[in-house]
Amino acid sequence: MGPPGAGKGTQGAYLQERYELHPLSPGDLLRAEVARGSALGKEAQGYMNSGKLVPDDVILKLVANELDTLGEDRGFLLDGFPRTLAQAKALDGLLLVRNRALRAIVLMQLDDEVILQRLSQRLVCPKCKLSYNVVDNPPQVEGRCDQDQSELIQRQDDQPEVIRKRLEVYHESTAPLAEYYESSGLLDKINADQPIQAIKEQLQKRLDERLKKDG
Ligand code: AMP
Repeated sequence: MGPPGAGKGTQGAYLQERYELHPLSPGDLLRAEVARGSALGKEAQGYMNSGKLVPDDVILKLVANELDTLGEDRGFLLDGFPRTLAQAKALDGLLLVRNRALRAIVLMQLDDEVILQRLSQRLVCPKCKLSYNVVDNPPQVEGRCDQDQSELIQRQDDQPEVIRKRLEVYHESTAPLAEYYESSGLLDKINADQPIQAIKEQLQKRLDERLKKDG
């Protein structure tokens, strides 16, 4: 969890590889639906482009479907979900009936001013979803993804007015989730205003300890 631009996608990509996790990001799934021009994509697009949350029932269906495509033993990494208290409670139910449980929760913390700056400098790969920062984390070849050489794009919702709305929604609907998860004993808070490598190392250390404890 964390505000837009905290580095969830970037760090998530490392964690997926290290712990062999299936990525489960409603934002990515929705963008794929929008690109396909499906009915779901059309429904979601207006919310996304204005920085609002897509209704819970749509998101929960997406997440449930995705969970059901995984084998029982396949680990997964939620990114950008849950984002509301209702989603967090629904997730508890989705996991319970599938005999699954969360093993770690990470909250990446970052101030609004830094977010505004970071997101205005963000470019993403439409194919592999890697994101870059033109100042702090530029691609090797300008405008091209290091991994697959696709042309990098700016996300439609990375415009200043939309970023402000997304931050407002984050503070109102998503930030209170930290309190919901505080008592679970699974929550790690990370200062996201550090170089990518430093965050990566801290995250891995904390998660390694957590997973070792779990066995
Ligand atoms: P993200 O890529 O996670 O920043 O998500 C981009 C956009 O997709 C958000 O601004 C929302 O419009 C929508 N979205 C993604 N995840 C959720 C969610 N869990 N609940 C509601 N809307 C979501």
